[in-house]
Amino acid sequence: MGRIPQHFIDALLARTDIVELIGTRVPLKKSGREYKACCPFHAEKTPSFWVSPDKQFYHCFGCGKHGTVLGFLMDHDHMAFPEAVEELATRLGLEVPHEGGAERSAARADEPLYELMASVARYYREQLAREPRARDYLAKRGLTAETLERFTIGYAPNSWNELLRRFGAGDGERQLLAAAGLIIERERGSNRESERYYDRFRDRVMFPIRDARGRVIAFGGRIIDAGEPKYLNSPETPLFHKGRELYGLFEARRARRNLERLVVVEGYMDAVSLHQSGIDYAVATLGTATTAEHFRRIFRLVPTVVFAFDGDRAGRAAAWRALQQALPEAREGREIRFLFLPQGHDPDTLIAAEGGAAFEQRFAAAVPLSEYLVRELSEQTELGSADGRARFAEHARPLFARVPEGVYRELLLERLAQVVGLTPARLEALWTGAKPDAPSTSSPPPARRSAAARPARGAGRGTLVRQAIIRLLHYPAIALEVTASERAGLDASEEPGVPLLRELLDDLRAQPAQIAAQVIQRWMGHKEGETLQKLLAREEVITGAAAATEELRAALMKLADQAAGKRLQALEARSRTGSLSPEELNEFQRLIERLSRRDARGG
Ligand SMILES: [Zn+2]
Repeated sequence: MGRIPQHFIDALLARTDIVELIGTRVPLKKSGREYKACCPFHAEKTPSFWVSPDKQFYHCFGCGKHGTVLGFLMDHDHMAFPEAVEELATRLGLEVPHEGGAERSAARADEPLYELMASVARYYREQLAREPRARDYLAKRGLTAETLERFTIGYAPNSWNELLRRFGAGDGERQLLAAAGLIIERERGSNRESERYYDRFRDRVMFPIRDARGRVIAFGGRIIDAGEPKYLNSPETPLFHKGRELYGLFEARRARRNLERLVVVEGYMDAVSLHQSGIDYAVATLGTATTAEHFRRIFRLVPTVVFAFDGDRAGRAAAWRALQQALPEAREGREIRFLFLPQGHDPDTLIAAEGGAAFEQRFAAAVPLSEYLVRELSEQTELGSADGRARFAEHARPLFARVPEGVYRELLLERLAQVVGLTPARLEALWTGAKPDAPSTSSPPPARRSAAARPARGAGRGTLVRQAIIRLLHYPAIALEVTASERAGLDASEEPGVPLLRELLDDLRAQPAQIAAQVIQRWMGHKEGETLQKLLAREEVITGAAAATEELRAALMKLADQAAGKRLQALEARSRTGSLSPEELNEFQRLIERLSRRDARGG
């Protein structure tokens, strides 16, 4: 894979706000210059998780997790590094450049497919203008011209080979159409090449499905009159993986800069109607149940999601499947709710009946995940009897096991225990088969130490080397203020940590950085990367870049003086046992001068 250039990663870190990004996943409270929250990585009840807008860095004093916004996406959202970069780039509307490599050629290989999909989408748009039946149908569904435009809705003509004729003149072009899932190969092959295939979408209203960047990657087609299947989607192609995509997500992100929540519906017609009625944060799954991948996509963007399901039996079954997928994603700071529509309604018909505002009010009454879980399980058992409660506990066990460790899990345990009339400890013991009073091994002790472990501000003045490094981390740009002779003074120092300081200083002089996060990111994977993160996480009083520059230069000077002092002592010792060479004598002279200047400075 092609390497992502350093300058691009620097730019992403400089332009992303870590507070905003973490804030969509963890409820942050402002506290002084920083933000705090209960840590998303360990269970705790008093906040020891801090996010610094200045450093663009987070740190937990409880469990010690820390890092940049990229590190957060990797740890919290379980992304791989390139994925995390892609995520930040997408948020900023940037394309990730690669320095040569296979990734680039793979992207280029898909380029003709993207171009074809875009052309076909345009073609379907044109066809809509020519087909009154399709326009009438959409008008009857209440879609305005503006909505048709926003979603680039079109029409696939009623023909077995119109698309094939127009876009599949040559062999290579037909192969491309087939790869894009737009034509289908006949089971009984024809001798004539042009009759080997037929159009997949015929006489349907066409909904282009777009990726996060707005490129058409697939189509959904809705039949106009009666007929089967009512909805037909593109098959899986190199561009389209239906378990990953959410219809309407591109449009939702374009409509609102800061999305706060998403509502997930089952059909693209529903999503489009919701957008038109002002609920422009609606998305639809594409003919699949909600997948784990969907959840990851959703929670990368927003902390709250509402699932709207039809009130019928199929809707309830779909909701229960969604709940099971949702459990591993449930945690503090995230809200997952379920909305059941009245019998006989889907979002489209309900909006038509009561309007967008009334529909939106239903979100407030939507059932939280934990309550939905309790409600469904209660309906299956008789909670009035001890037997029934035991069955409830038995049914709840595998579901509870899917919830990750954390505050949310503890609260859910409390709620379930309340239903069956046990203490949380007894319920957990029942599940694990342990004695109820034996200390539970499955939940960690409450993190009381967190508040106490937080060092006081200004603590840890540390050694000169440490002071210098910390200042460089907070204000990386001051590396350029250091003079060449100040830098050279470090070469003679043998203090512990000086090699790291030298390397850091040289790197920042060769490749200047503006914020701490950029430095941390560059040193990820380096053997000293973790040391730098720990130093950055320390609380320090540093009053601005100007003061930091002075303190850095003073520390460098002192280190050089120390080295000079040591060297002088060594030369003195040598001169007592023998004579010094002319070069050594010269050096001796310079060292004495240097140190007397220091004494004159009062250092
Ligand atoms: Zn923590």
